[in-house]
Amino acid sequence: MDTLLKTHNKLEFLPQVHGFLQKEGNLSSSKHQNQNFRFGSRKSYPKRGKSGCVKASSSALLELVPETKKENLDFELPMYDPSKGLVVDLAVVGGGPAGLAVAQQVSEAGLSVCSIDPYPRLIWPNNYGVWVDEFEAMDLLDCLDSTWSGAAVFIDDNVKKDLGRPYGRVNRKQLKSKMLQKCISNGVKFHQAKVIKVIHEESKSLLICNDGVTVQASVVLDATGFSRCLVQYDKPYNPGYQVAYGILAEVEEHPFDVDKMVFMDWRDSHLNDNLELKQRNSKIPTFLYAMPFSKNRIFLEETSLVARPGLPMKDIQERMVARLKHLGIKVKSIEEDEHCVIPMGGPLPVLPQRVVGIGGTAGMVHPSTGYMVARTLAAAPTVANSIVQYLGSERKLTGDELSVEVWKNLWPIERRRQREFFCFGMDILLKLDLQGTRRFFNAFFDLEPRYWHGFLSSRLFLPELIFFGLSLFSHASNTSRIEIMAKGTLPLANMIGNLIRDGD
Ligand SMILES: Cc1cc2nc3c(=O)[nH]c(=O)nc-3n(C[C@H](O)[C@H](O)[C@H](O)COP(=O)(O)OP(=O)(O)OC[C@H]3O[C@@H](n4cnc5c(N)ncnc54)[C@H](O)[C@@H]3O)c2cc1C
Repeated sequence: MDTLLKTHNKLEFLPQVHGFLQKEGNLSSSKHQNQNFRFGSRKSYPKRGKSGCVKASSSALLELVPETKKENLDFELPMYDPSKGLVVDLAVVGGGPAGLAVAQQVSEAGLSVCSIDPYPRLIWPNNYGVWVDEFEAMDLLDCLDSTWSGAAVFIDDNVKKDLGRPYGRVNRKQLKSKMLQKCISNGVKFHQAKVIKVIHEESKSLLICNDGVTVQASVVLDATGFSRCLVQYDKPYNPGYQVAYGILAEVEEHPFDVDKMVFMDWRDSHLNDNLELKQRNSKIPTFLYAMPFSKNRIFLEETSLVARPGLPMKDIQERMVARLKHLGIKVKSIEEDEHCVIPMGGPLPVLPQRVVGIGGTAGMVHPSTGYMVARTLAAAPTVANSIVQYLGSERKLTGDELSVEVWKNLWPIERRRQREFFCFGMDILLKLDLQGTRRFFNAFFDLEPRYWHGFLSSRLFLPELIFFGLSLFSHASNTSRIEIMAKGTLPLANMIGNLIRDGD
């Protein structure tokens, strides 16, 4: 009856119309931000509903997930020697894309760098997707393992948009290997540990690690992603959350064109048999994001674009199972799965502060989309150049003075204003139900490419963003205009207030 269940040979009995089997907490705390966040057991326990009907359940899908798949890169890393008591120019805490990019570039200029991460050889776990032009601009095309000539957006059963903008999947093994190789040849030293504390002195800082080692550095860069290890925030942290569940799967077949990735599929006909789930989806919708690699290998991710609090992972998995069944996608095996929880928007960290930051920890996620990897890689030279310039200059800056300059370059007024506009976008998206979201994206993808490309890739700044907003308004249907005015007035007032308060 159910393909997912059949393939795994484990049938599960559930009531015909079922919601949560257990009451689940929503994601509202920053403690839940770890992408390795796991839920419940993967074992399925048969339950028979009143009707005795057999239905798909997410736990059956999870049975196909391999236990753990952590692959390390085969690199001999030159390790930091704590016995020498050296003060390095830069200590980078966190070896994700953001941290390694800066470590590589600062060391290239001849400064001494120590990169600290509990898993320095581990291939990054997240499945990154980017627009090809973003990676082309950084000469990183060799770090994409698959590309699609365009992307499809299904607004509903009747409206489909073909976006003529090539999309790619990042080859994270290649990207990390490339960065590590450059770091090694530039003399970066590695320390395998978790930083637990920082103590600042006038011209240097001491990083205390969980293995008892202290690393001394003139400058400390926090690149710990959403764990925000060292960077300080002084305002209540109230982000929206993008929550998604993804699988890289071998399937018998799927209905998608292999030349196009599916950027968003907002169709909901898969929920027609489950009114309760359909109503939940009408209020807080999820869409399918898919990267078809071939006729029978595909990455599928059911995604809640943004919600506050975030949707429970189990709810998302339930919707995904129903969608795959409806699309006739029979999963044979799962290579890897991904639990994605991305905090979006919320306040920026204290600007400036002694520890400098980049990436997730420094508020760089796009507040309306959750994308960040291309923007962070593009910002790494800015951070690296300011560290090199001020640490290596004749008028050598140290301590707080240097941090002021780095933060100024990472978050200049134009970028802060841009982010404020993107947060305004997020605040509107948070208020839209399925119909409103469809109307919004119907108008959004009808804009001139320079507008929607620029918005998604953080290339539009305030004057252009105002034209973008006006253009979106003029492309919107009358219903959508009324909705934007009704739901956007308060966020607009907030944005204007924040822009006025945030002078340079
Ligand atoms: C599942 C998922 C999928 C995503 N997909 C996309 C996408 O398709 N496209 C996109 O643009 N963005 C995507 N993002 C958003 C964003 O690009 C990623 O989160 C990206 O990995 C952030 O990079 P980062 O270097 O800032 O942090 P991370 O990649 O999270 O790296 C942080 C590093 O810091 C280390 N660390 C943490 N705490 C400490 C400590 N105390 N001491 C030392 N080291 C520490 C960790 O081990 C880790 O290696 C995704 C996010 C998630 C969670």
